Amino acid sequence: MTRCDVCAAEWTSRKWEHCRSCHQTFSGTRAGDHHRIGPHEPAGARRCLGAEEMAAAGMWSTVSPHGVLVWHGERSKAGVAHRRDNVGAEQ
Ligand SMILES: [Zn+2]
Ligand SMILES: [Zn+2]
Repeated sequence: MTRCDVCAAEWTSRKWEHCRSCHQTFSGTRAGDHHRIGPHEPAGARRCLGAEEMAAAGMWSTVSPHGVLVWHGERSKAGVAHRRDNVGAEQ
């Protein structure tokens, strides 16, 4: 069991990644990478995406048995376009 002392999130999977900046949890390194946007320089220019921004970019979340919200997938403009296509098809 891994636990974050700051936000008290708990998880068992070693693959999961927990951001020590925004305290969101990710199902893997790739999903974690995709919640950070902006340039590495200057310091502070790079930031974390919020839940709404990640959802809009095609990522999705589930809730673990321990009650931790976990983000999956990766940010992609194609994912956003795909979601819009689906909405259009239903109308
Ligand atoms: Zn973060
Ligand atoms: Zn945390």
